[in-house]
Amino acid sequence: MQFHVGVISGDGIGPEIVREAKKVLTSVGKKYGHTFEFEEILMGGVSIDVHGVPLTDEAIEAAKASDAILMGSIGGNTTTSPWYQLPSDLRPEAGLLKLRKALNLFANLRPAYLYKELRESCPLKDEIIGSGFDLAIMRELTGGLYFGERETKEVNGILQATDTLTYSEKEIKRIAVKAFEIALKRKKKVTSVDKANVLDSSRLWRGVVDEVAADYPDVSYEHMLVDNCAMQLVRDPGQFDVILTENMFGDILSDEASMITGSIGMLGSASMNDTKFGLYEPSGGSAPDIAGKNIANPIATILSAAMMLRFSFDLDKEAAAIEQAVEQVLKENYRTVDIMTNKEEEKPQFELVRTTQMGDLIAERV
Ligand code: NAD
Repeated sequence: MQFHVGVISGDGIGPEIVREAKKVLTSVGKKYGHTFEFEEILMGGVSIDVHGVPLTDEAIEAAKASDAILMGSIGGNTTTSPWYQLPSDLRPEAGLLKLRKALNLFANLRPAYLYKELRESCPLKDEIIGSGFDLAIMRELTGGLYFGERETKEVNGILQATDTLTYSEKEIKRIAVKAFEIALKRKKKVTSVDKANVLDSSRLWRGVVDEVAADYPDVSYEHMLVDNCAMQLVRDPGQFDVILTENMFGDILSDEASMITGSIGMLGSASMNDTKFGLYEPSGGSAPDIAGKNIANPIATILSAAMMLRFSFDLDKEAAAIEQAVEQVLKENYRTVDIMTNKEEEKPQFELVRTTQMGDLIAERV
């Protein structure tokens, strides 16, 4: 099959890590008989330098015409880069927000997976880690508290601030459907997280999720209060498969989930709309401190490319081949600097590799 992939390399380490993901996709294409055409789309600082804005209308059109988007990261050093002297709507990040809106990317999926080989970086105790965990957070991305009306005003001489949390049935239904669909491709379990003992929006959330769940008899599901979920993630993360939740709860829980893997630099993410289209990017930023040094870890971007194959192109076998290749290089003790052990006595058993080598090693093993 042939796929047209929009590529937003972006800024900082973006071009370095995306180059390796493209290398791995090309290797997958050769092995499984697919063609991936890549079209570079400018966004972020690099677009500001060329066009004076972080995202042009032409770039949005090119993104819309793609089958999916693979992204590195955007932005620079927020203290020293001239991009951050610009008004906020002209800064690099404004491009990403505009693109998410233009493409209606309301569903954000962030997996948190513990690699056996990186187990020592996990901050949890061995008896809690058990045989490991493999969960994913499906977070609503375009509604709720972050997009509700807000105001700060003075009442009787005292400042008072208000934020509003609104969800419609339609918004809840479409994210719930996404979560159940993803669960079908995983361990077939959904945990819907809310605060239904207090919030009206959560009670509506529960009712709508119940209705959606009825259409997925093969997926087991449960409701959990958000405060309990925050505890359960550090008490027994192995119990979760897909955690479905609203925007702010998802923001907080997904960082907690990433943290317990001990290696944020290894995690990809997907932002999707109600078609097969998605934007796939690593969870980290543009790391301006190490840009151009060929030492960045490309694995999160390579795993984001695997997510693209699975969720946008339905190429499950090919996605699994990439994931297994990543596990294999870790098993063979290759490490980029960010995932190298801190223990001096253990260092001799590992081989320190650069960005390009890590890409080559994974591409060779798909
Ligand atoms: P960051 O994630 O870029 O860097 C934090 C630390 O992690 C740095 O020490 C960096 O060297 C390291 N790091 C990050 N990715 C790595 C990788 N793949 N391999 C090895 N080390 C890695 O966060 P920051 O410094 O807070 O942000 C830098 C810029 O990135 C800012 O402009 C920020 O706005 C932007 N950013 C962009 C996105 C995005 O494009 N979606 C997301 C987050 C931050």
